[in-house]
Amino acid sequence: MRDGREVCNQYISIGRKAYRRRIEIAWERQKGRCCLEGYCPYCPGWLDLEEATFEHEHGRGMGGGRRDDRIVLPDGRWQNGAAHQACNVWKASRHIAYNEDQLERARKNETNSI
Ligand SMILES: [Zn+2]
Repeated sequence: MRDGREVCNQYISIGRKAYRRRIEIAWERQKGRCCLEGYCPYCPGWLDLEEATFEHEHGRGMGGGRRDDRIVLPDGRWQNGAAHQACNVWKASRHIAYNEDQLERARKNETNSI
């Protein structure tokens, strides 16, 4: 994409594999928890890799117009995540800044432990 977004082509097998791989990487960095845990009222937290779906932090927009499949931005910040199908549906196309919230929490924990 000219604006820097990336979209995996799901119509070809290599695109689907790349997409699946990104879900796995996101799932690993979330330590097997759903990225919408604490936001979605019925999220159980723990997420099986087989159940993980690609969560678009900013939604996909009308017809995928805002869709961005990158999970790390050029400056190293996290984007998107792995979530339950149900949580993904619950969130729909709202924007929830779960990655930023997580950074914020990590920062607070660091300050507390000093
Ligand atoms: Zn969930």
